[in-house]
Amino acid sequence: MSQLRLNPLTGRWVTLVADRAKRPTDFVPRLMQVEADPNRACPFCPGNEEATPPALEQHDSEGKWTLRVVPNLYPAFDGDGNLAVHNLGPVHTMADASGIHEVFVITPDHNARVGTFTDEVIHNVMQALKHRFEEHARTSNVRYTQAFINHGREAGASLAHPHGQILGLPFVPGEILEEERAFERFKGGCILCTTIEAERVDNKRVIIDNEHAFVLCPYWSGGPYELLIIPQSHDVHLTDSTDAVLTGIGTAIRDSLAIMYATLGDVAYNLVFHTAPSHHSGNFHWHIHLWPKLTTAAGFERGTGVLINIVPPEDAAFELKSAAGI
Ligand SMILES: [Zn+2]
Ligand SMILES: [Zn+2]
Ligand SMILES: [Zn+2]
Repeated sequence: MSQLRLNPLTGRWVTLVADRAKRPTDFVPRLMQVEADPNRACPFCPGNEEATPPALEQHDSEGKWTLRVVPNLYPAFDGDGNLAVHNLGPVHTMADASGIHEVFVITPDHNARVGTFTDEVIHNVMQALKHRFEEHARTSNVRYTQAFINHGREAGASLAHPHGQILGLPFVPGEILEEERAFERFKGGCILCTTIEAERVDNKRVIIDNEHAFVLCPYWSGGPYELLIIPQSHDVHLTDSTDAVLTGIGTAIRDSLAIMYATLGDVAYNLVFHTAPSHHSGNFHWHIHLWPKLTTAAGFERGTGVLINIVPPEDAAFELKSAAGI
C-alpha cells in the first residue's frame, strides 16, 4: 500500500510508492528506469492480454478489442478505505493512499498516434473515459479523478504503446483546489466562458473555434506551445457534458495533437483533464491542458512556482496555425 505524507510547508500531499523502481511504470525517474527488454512483448499489444489484469471496460469490433481499460498492475492508489489522516507528531502527518489506478490502452495499434484517430475511434475513447469517470464518482472514497496521457520518454511515458492513466484519489489535489478557488473568486460569471469571449475579440491566440470546442494558446501560457482545450458548453464535470460535446472535445484533442505534430514533429507531451471533484459545489468549467515537453523546470521554477516562457502565446498560435495551414 502506498502512503500519503503531508508537506506542512505547502499543505499538499506527497505519495510514497515503494518497490516501483524496477517496474514498468510512468512514475520512475529516468535514471532508475530499466530499459525495456526488446525480447519482452509489449503488455498492451493484442495477444498479451494476460500480462494485465482483466479489463474493467473493453470495446470490441469484429471479434477484436479496440480499446481496454485495465487496473494498473502496480497501483499508486489502491483500496476502498476513506482518507484516514494520522498525526504521528507535530509535523508528521500521513494516510493510506487508497483509491483507484487504471491504465487506458487507447488503441490495439502499438505505433498509432492519437493525432491520426478517426472520428469513430475518438467517440469510443471519450465514451469509455466517461464511463470510468462515472464509475469513480460512484466510488465512495474517491474525491477526485485525474485522467492524463503521457507521450514520449521525456514526458514520463515508460511504454511506447499509446496509453493513458486514470487515478481516483481520496482527496482533492492542490492544483484543483487552486482552480476551484479561482472560479469562486472570479466576479462576472465563469473564467473560461469569459476567456472564450475575450479571446474571440482579440483573435490572436485562438487555434480552434467550432461548435463544441475552443482551443487556444492561453494568454498566460507558462511554456512554449501550451494549449488549453475548453468545451463551448459550460459543464462543471466532464460527466455533465452530452455525448456530442464529448466527441467534439475528443476530436479537438486529436486535431490539436495533429497541429502540434505539424509544427514540432513527434514531440513528447502531457495531456491532462481537469474536471470538478465529484462532490464539488460551486462554479467550475472542465477543460484540458496540453503541454508539449520542450523544457525542464529548474531552480527558479521549482523555487518560486513562477514559470518562464520564451515563446509568447501569440507567436506560438501564429506558428501552429501556419504549420497546419489554418
Ligand atoms: Zn504495444
Ligand atoms: Zn464556463
Ligand atoms: Zn486546469
